[in-house]
Amino acid sequence: MSAFAGPWPEKGSLVLRRARIPRLFLERALGADDGACLLADIFIEDGRVARLLPAGQAPDEAGLAVVDCAGRQVWPTLVDMHTHLDRAHSLSLAPNPDGTFAGARAAMARLRGLFTPEDTAARMDFALRAAHARGVSAIRTHVDSRAEIAEANWALFADMRARWAGRVELQGVALLPVETYATPEGEELAERVADLGGCLGGVAEFPVEGSPDELARLRKALAALMRLARRHDLDVDLHVDETADPRARALELVAKAAIEAGHVGRVVCGHCSSLALQEEAVVKSVLELARRAGLRFVTLPTANLMLQERLPGRTPRWRGVTLLHEIEAAGLPIAIAGDNCRDAFYPYGDGDILDTFRHAVPALHLYPEEDASLAMIGPVPASICGFAGHGLIGEARAADLILFQASTVNEVLSRPDLARKVVRAGIALTEPPPAYPLPGEA
Ligand SMILES: [Zn+2]
Repeated sequence: MSAFAGPWPEKGSLVLRRARIPRLFLERALGADDGACLLADIFIEDGRVARLLPAGQAPDEAGLAVVDCAGRQVWPTLVDMHTHLDRAHSLSLAPNPDGTFAGARAAMARLRGLFTPEDTAARMDFALRAAHARGVSAIRTHVDSRAEIAEANWALFADMRARWAGRVELQGVALLPVETYATPEGEELAERVADLGGCLGGVAEFPVEGSPDELARLRKALAALMRLARRHDLDVDLHVDETADPRARALELVAKAAIEAGHVGRVVCGHCSSLALQEEAVVKSVLELARRAGLRFVTLPTANLMLQERLPGRTPRWRGVTLLHEIEAAGLPIAIAGDNCRDAFYPYGDGDILDTFRHAVPALHLYPEEDASLAMIGPVPASICGFAGHGLIGEARAADLILFQASTVNEVLSRPDLARKVVRAGIALTEPPPAYPLPGEA
C-alpha cells in the first residue's frame, strides 16, 4: 500500500517502510551517518513507535499492514510555541486600517470590549482545527489577562485545553503589561495561573523616552514577576523589545531580574527585535547576561516582518527579526513560532507552523537542508516548553507523524500546496482544515 493512495490501515498498528526522516527529528542517532536524512522503517504498534530501524533491516511483522513511503519525507508532528489563540481570526471584528503596531493595540482594546466566551471559543476552535489538520500537536498560547476579561478568558482557555487534550496539547501564558505584577491584581493573577497550570508572562516595554522613575518601575515590575514565578514555581514567557528603537533594552533587565531572583533557565523572551539594531559590544554583553540567566528565545518572523518600522508610504529597510544566528552561536535555545493569525497584528495565516517556517527561511537566512533550523519548530520548542512527546520521532513515543508527498526537505519547502498526511497515534487524520467562513461571519 502506498502512503498517499488507497485507504490507511484503520488500526494504529502498521509498518511504515522507507520513511525518509531528517536526522534532527530523531530522538536517538540511528545507523551510520549517510547525510541529513535517514531512510527508516517505522514499526507502529497500538499507536506507538515500537521499533525504528534503518530501512530494510527487519522483516515484515506478520499481521502488520505495510505502508510504503517510497523514500518520502516523514516528520514528527510539530510545535508552535508562541500564539494568540484568543485573538485568532478576529480581523473582521477588530480591523487595523493602517496596519501599524499602535493600530493593532487599539484594535485589541476594542476586541476586549466585545469579548464573549462563545465568540472567542468559536474562533479558537477554528484555529485549533486548522493547526491540528496541518500536523501541529502542541501549542503555547498567550491569554489576554487584562483585569476586565482575565477570569473569563482563563476559564475559557482551561475549557479549550480539556476539550482538545489528546489532539493538540495546550499551554497558556498570562498576557498583560508586566507592571501589573507589582500590584495586588498581579498577585491574584499569579495564583489563578498557578492553579490552572499556566505560565506568567506579559509585555516588558522599555521606556525609551521615559524618566528614571519609569525605568525603576519596570525593574520593580520584573523583580515582582520573577518573585511570583519563584513562589508558584512557574515558567515565564515575555514579549520583549518588539520595536525598531535600539534604545529599547528590556532584554538585559529581564536577564538581570531572572539572575537576581534565582529563576535561571525558566524564562522565554519573544521578539527581541531591537537587539538586532544595537552595537556589537552591547549585543555581546546582553547575550552573556542571557547565558547566565539561562534565557530561551523565540522569534516571530511574520509579525516582525509585517509590523516593524511600518510607516505609511515607506518601504521597510530592515526585517525586524532578532539575532537568531548570534543567539544560537551563544549556545542559547531559539525557536520559531507563528504569533498572530488573522488579527490586527498579522492579518494572514492559518495556524500552520510550516507556513511560518517558509517565511522564516528568507527572513532569517536559514538553510534547512544543511543547518539545524528545522529543529526550531520541533524538538527545540518542545524542550523549551516541556512539551514531552512532541517534535521528535523515537521508540516508545506516540506515532504522531507528518508524511509529505516529497523526497527532500527542499521539495517540502518549495511547494506550499504539497500534499501532507497527518498521522496521530498511527491513524491518518481525515478531517481537512475547517472551511471559511467562521461561525457568525458572512
Ligand atoms: Zn505575541
